[in-house]
Amino acid sequence: PTRQDCPLDKEKLGHYSWSLLHTIAAKYPEKPSSLVQKEMKDFFAIFSNIYPCELCAHDFREELRRDPVDATSQEQLSQWLCRIHNKVNLKLGKDLFDCSKVNERWRDGWSDGSCDFQPKLH
Ligand code: FAD
Repeated sequence: PTRQDCPLDKEKLGHYSWSLLHTIAAKYPEKPSSLVQKEMKDFFAIFSNIYPCELCAHDFREELRRDPVDATSQEQLSQWLCRIHNKVNLKLGKDLFDCSKVNERWRDGWSDGSCDFQPKLH
């Protein structure tokens, strides 16, 4: 086995989790029905209860109360998640991400074409 086959530490778990969350937001509909919006809010509520890093989950629940999920559109959800992720970045002393580039990073690929060789999700 390689190191990749080992249980995740907090950093790896975080990296993969953000990747999933931002990709979900990238693929979210432009005009979601009220049911779809509710499902997304429920998803984050449950996620923040079961995220397997207790302190992270605790702070995430507080952040959700301060700044509730905005699931009204793809743009709003992606911007909301970018904002929330930046709060964690700030707490950890990491660089803040420029949220105007969130769809380039997670949906469309960079405008310099550097992601063009990658297969797209359908
Ligand atoms: P990550 O922060 O994992 O980011 C992954 C990639 O996302 C980056 O490479 C960048 O391309 C992109 N990115 C960065 N910021 C943004 C943004 N704002 N919007 C869009 N894209 C962005 N760790 C702790 O030690 N303490 C905590 O309390 C904690 N809470 C967490 C709460 C949640 C909900 C999650 C999912 C993770 C949490 N983590 C926490 C883990 C932490 O946020 C990082 O994931 C981990 O430190 C690894 O960081 P990284 O440098 O690989 O980049």
